[in-house]
Amino acid sequence: MTAFAETIHDFHIPARAGKGFRVAKGDLIRITDLQGDQPCDFWAFAAENPREFLSPEHTKPSISKVSPKQGDAAYTNYRRPIVTLVEDNSIGNHDMQFAACDEPRYIQLKAPMPHASCQGNLHMALEELGIDFDAVIQPWNLFTNFFILPDGGIDIRPPGTKGGDNVVLRAEMDAHIVVSACPQDMNPTCGGSPTDLRVEVGR
Ligand SMILES: [Zn+2]
Repeated sequence: MTAFAETIHDFHIPARAGKGFRVAKGDLIRITDLQGDQPCDFWAFAAENPREFLSPEHTKPSISKVSPKQGDAAYTNYRRPIVTLVEDNSIGNHDMQFAACDEPRYIQLKAPMPHASCQGNLHMALEELGIDFDAVIQPWNLFTNFFILPDGGIDIRPPGTKGGDNVVLRAEMDAHIVVSACPQDMNPTCGGSPTDLRVEVGR
């Protein structure tokens, strides 16, 4: 596992919460699933223009895969690499199919309301960063096992990650990053119970 020569941030993200922060080109971001079975919804926005952001729809044709594997980049809606998955110390399920959970989804699933959501965490984090952006965009769902069946169906399965599993991403441009410890407790997305994440930024 890559050791950082210098650690810039070390964030503890409590279950169900989100966090936004800025990175410089070349910075490394390590995201650790502390207890296992915990997805991390991940967004990245170009620092110079938040209308350019990580786009799963643009990433998939760029890499000819349903999601990046170690060594692959994730691309923006302008088709530029924004982060590269430099190290994958997990079983490697990082979904790019599903939208972030949001309030209507929890109402649909008959959850007790109000309920935290990844989309709510995204907009709170962007507001804290002073970024005016209210659109609903698709996250990169790290440690998320939405399994595509041979007949085209989709099965929501637990992530299967173990405590301490992690990924290391490298920023390919100055960017604002938002992460959310997914609060989904109405289906197996988080293995039944949402838990905490650790996010370190270094170089
Ligand atoms: Zn979520």
